[in-house]
Amino acid sequence: MKVEDILAKLVSFPVLGGDHNLEIIHWIQNYIEPFGIATTLVPNKEKTKASLHCRIGPSVDGGVILSGHTDVVPVKGQSWDSDPFILTKKDGKLFGRGSADMKGFIACCLASLPSIIKADLKQPIYFAFSYDEEIGCLAAPELIEHIKKTYSENAKYAIIGEPSSLEPVIGKKGVCYVLTEVNGSAGHSSGIHKEISAIHESTRLIIWLENKMKELSQATQDHRFKPPHSTLHVGQISGGVATNIVADYTRFEWDVRVIPKDDIKAIFNDYFSFCKERELEVRKRFPDFSITNTFVHPPVPALDTKLADDIVALTQKISGQNSWKTVSYAAEAGQFHEAGYQSIICGPGSIEQAHRANEYTTQEQLDKCVVMLQKLVVEFSI
Ligand SMILES: [Zn+2]
Repeated sequence: MKVEDILAKLVSFPVLGGDHNLEIIHWIQNYIEPFGIATTLVPNKEKTKASLHCRIGPSVDGGVILSGHTDVVPVKGQSWDSDPFILTKKDGKLFGRGSADMKGFIACCLASLPSIIKADLKQPIYFAFSYDEEIGCLAAPELIEHIKKTYSENAKYAIIGEPSSLEPVIGKKGVCYVLTEVNGSAGHSSGIHKEISAIHESTRLIIWLENKMKELSQATQDHRFKPPHSTLHVGQISGGVATNIVADYTRFEWDVRVIPKDDIKAIFNDYFSFCKERELEVRKRFPDFSITNTFVHPPVPALDTKLADDIVALTQKISGQNSWKTVSYAAEAGQFHEAGYQSIICGPGSIEQAHRANEYTTQEQLDKCVVMLQKLVVEFSI
């Protein structure tokens, strides 16, 4: 199948982050297996979703894992000019949800399969396709663990095909979303002197987060990133009923994005200590006061590939781009990096088009990615 036809098929499965993905993963499995390649599915507990991995080539140490995710972000509230789940071609652009992020890369991997099989590979190439990436890179840790358990040999590299316009991405910030809930007391606003407003207490916590970012920005910087420091940001807040009622409940969601040098756990511990401090203080006046923190997803580690790592030169050689860059979005690259693989993000399409209405990739980017994978095959056949 041509890369464009495979992409059209992949786009036709409207699998959002969190959704069941068995249909798309079975389609991929049924595409791969007739080539004589055994695939392994890694299902979730409920068996409603699965990741897939397979090896092509010899069972020897080395080689590369090509990683992609089968889920996409929602289209709700976005104004599309075409059906987001029907790949639509116009002026060399291929429109569809996931065309850039990141079914384009999976399509290139699958379209390259016949030539990968024909090659005399000296090192293996693995495919690793996950689910639930868009809601916190949830499936990657189990997929990586399964790969380590399944194969007796160890892969050396991982290329994560997130849209980077095929430019090698050597670093990304670590990221985590947190929900903070504050329970105060209710009452008439005229009695605020004896009540505990959840809104007022929330603002102390939010100001603390902002001050923490200032402190971190002065303490540690990494100029590969924009901005060069870790960031903390509250993106959603709700609570309160009326101007003249003291709010007894507030919730806000915030994210922290850390440069590799900063320790995300240390930031959480500082924040949790401050929350504890406030609880102890306020409970002297209102014993039921509470602050609860919940991780919306487990922290996704940073990607911190050194310029001297072989994966950088390899990716630059096969992609034909001698540059490198860093990004600030979450991706499974951090998890592959943490698991010990030399990892890099490099895939077709632009992140500028990801997650938006009228998301697209171009025929040119897909063709270039197929060429890149052909060069990768040559590198591993020597
Ligand atoms: Zn993605």
